[in-house]
Amino acid sequence: MSPADIAAASASLEREPPEEALRWAVQRFPGRVGFATAFGPEGCVLLEAIAREQLAVDVFTLDTGLLFPETVELWRELERRYGIRVRGVQPSLTVAEQELAQGPSLWQRAPDQCCDLRKVQPLRAEMLQFDAWITAIRRDQTPERARAGVVEADPKFGLVKVNPLAAWTSDQVWARVQERDIPTNPLHGRGYPSIGCAPCTSAVRPGEEPRAGRWRAFAKTECGLHGRFTSKPPKES
Ligand code: SF4
Repeated sequence: MSPADIAAASASLEREPPEEALRWAVQRFPGRVGFATAFGPEGCVLLEAIAREQLAVDVFTLDTGLLFPETVELWRELERRYGIRVRGVQPSLTVAEQELAQGPSLWQRAPDQCCDLRKVQPLRAEMLQFDAWITAIRRDQTPERARAGVVEADPKFGLVKVNPLAAWTSDQVWARVQERDIPTNPLHGRGYPSIGCAPCTSAVRPGEEPRAGRWRAFAKTECGLHGRFTSKPPKES
């Protein structure tokens, strides 16, 4: 798609419900659409919509081997409830193999490198089979996501990126969860608004940003999947 076509598609879908963006993606790129979910509430909302609309989307999750048990249980529950398969995409090295190659707890020393090995490289390999990918990002999640279009070019992977919830707020997402009784991660109720790998996710304190519990010891806010790494020195304690 040309930049002008992408901009036009994004503008036309800006005020439409997320189902419209999902339908547009599968019609525009038949058989070539992937959706990577980490089972946040936004991802669960999109997964329910994909299943309900019976859309031909290849749904997968980056199974880093370091997910919370609650996340793995939610993964299975979503598959059971909606009758869909969510493929687990593993890194080339197990956690034990990575420890042998890189030393223990790489995430404590070099989280960008660890995310690259366990998330970005596996995702990049998956992307070769797609023309477009769907994400669950919202603009108000981080400054890096503030200008996300509903449809945009993704130069990182050479694909079209579709963000059906770009314009939604967290309240809208949770209203949809309630309305459709969509399963979500029980950790959200224990102070974890944003959940990634267990070693890099902590509960947030009152008044903190929702993603403050991700890579708490580092000035890092993204895995590298949706933008540049934020590779900076550790935060001052
Ligand atoms: S979130 Fe943490 S454990 Fe998971 S891949 Fe990134 S650095 Fe490694």
